Amino acid sequence: MTVKDPIVIDAIINGEKIKTEKQAPRENPTHPDEVVGYAPLNTREETIRAIDAAYDAFPAWAKTSIDERIERMKKAIQKIKDATPEIAELLTREHGKPLYDSNGEIGVSLMWMEFACENAKEVLKGEIHESELGKTIIARDAIGVVAAITPWNYPISLSTIKIAPALLAGNTMVLKPSPLAPLAVSKIIEIVANEFPKGVLNLVHGEADVGVELTSNPKIAKIAFTGGTNTAKHIIKAAADTIKHMTLELGGNDAAIVLEDFNVNDERAMRRLVISNFLTAGQICMIAKRVYVHRSIYDEFVEKYIEAANKWIRVGDPFSDDVTIGPVNNMKQVEFVQSLIDDAERKGAKVIKLGKVLDKELYEKGYFMQPTVVLGADYKDPIVVEEQFGPTVPILPFEDDKHAIELANDSIYGLTSSVWGDEEHALKVAKHIQAGTTMINTAAVQGLDVRFPFGGVKQSGMGREYGKDGLLIYTDTHVINMPKNLDLPYIPE
Ligand code: NAD
Repeated sequence: MTVKDPIVIDAIINGEKIKTEKQAPRENPTHPDEVVGYAPLNTREETIRAIDAAYDAFPAWAKTSIDERIERMKKAIQKIKDATPEIAELLTREHGKPLYDSNGEIGVSLMWMEFACENAKEVLKGEIHESELGKTIIARDAIGVVAAITPWNYPISLSTIKIAPALLAGNTMVLKPSPLAPLAVSKIIEIVANEFPKGVLNLVHGEADVGVELTSNPKIAKIAFTGGTNTAKHIIKAAADTIKHMTLELGGNDAAIVLEDFNVNDERAMRRLVISNFLTAGQICMIAKRVYVHRSIYDEFVEKYIEAANKWIRVGDPFSDDVTIGPVNNMKQVEFVQSLIDDAERKGAKVIKLGKVLDKELYEKGYFMQPTVVLGADYKDPIVVEEQFGPTVPILPFEDDKHAIELANDSIYGLTSSVWGDEEHALKVAKHIQAGTTMINTAAVQGLDVRFPFGGVKQSGMGREYGKDGLLIYTDTHVINMPKNLDLPYIPE
């Protein structure tokens, strides 16, 4: 990969690209001394201008027909398809995820945007009920200005998951991506914004101060947030004074339960499990972050797991076709994940390195971590209890189904989970797990289906994205009642 000149991203306010006084460099995690580009550090005043633009654009946009909105979104989809190779490359440079993974992220984003276009008319048209009791109309109205705030791990899919349904439902939006992967997503947003009237989709960049304005400004009617659970707590407080609608997609500590009837010699299943622990260097909200294995197969499982991991994991330059795992996105994350591993090791756990490092020199320079499996940790150790969000996973034994369910549910989180083994048995166990999604014999993005709702229980969030729910969360339900019997019989004259 040759070094390119840094690109410069602008904010987009009311259809215009805005140059800002201050900008933040975004480095390449593979070659940290290379600046991939600069993103603006917008001020609160600029954020307010973006909110005002979205607020002023809302009444006219909300009145447009659903056909017009779908037509515009479809044009944007085509343009994103045309630009995919260039944007995927940029994403890999600023994020560190391998090129196949960047292409995969854009692919899922397009799949969702197309699903949203195909279903918007039916889902948003509302309902009319007529009977001898009268007529009732249930309208799905746009809410207003949506503040979308997104994280660094899947910057494109977690932005398009919000943009497509919000705009199709007649809302306007101000979106703020994470400063840790601000570039590629800005290219996508520019493409979409250009297909819509001025002010419908606005883009601002920056740190928490921009986020605070977006979540407290009275003109914001809804917050669509994906990010950490602790950040969400600040957001809920900031939004409290003006009682905003909210969809919160937060952290997870997803359990994978491997039952005694799981076939440890099933190489494809073992490979799926390894991928569900380490794809995107483990930096996915819905990655399997703790693996519980029935004690009767534990030793054999660990042996075969390590074999499968050693085959699939090849750490190196994310632009190389041989590589399955690139660097971690940022140094803070490397240090955090390493601190969890060190803590477990200090307490007596065994840490085993997995796979191969393909380029040792590059590895030393970039934010790389060789994936590890941690054996013998305590159920309550931070490596098990906390969301690691990096390339390490603890494997622990359980005694029986009841114990496995208890362990899986012993968490403040409940995003996704998975059960591996005989289908019928797995289904029985799955029903008792507290999670927004439970997958059988697969996990993480391998089991994701944009047609169905996704989201968490407990402190993993509220509301559901994807599926028809993912469109309805951008609407207010307005019921218009025309009863035939206008006077209630039980109310005295
Ligand atoms: P983060 O919470 O640190 O940041 C997310 C976004 O919030 C960023 O744009 C950040 O600038 C902004 N922000 C920070 N402070 C803010 C404040 N006070 N007010 C408003 N906005 C503020 O999260 P991250 O480190 O970027 O992402 C990793 C986290 O996201 C993990 O916990 C992961 O599990 C979670 N995540 C969840 C899902 C899901 O669908 N449930 C998907 C991806 C990531």
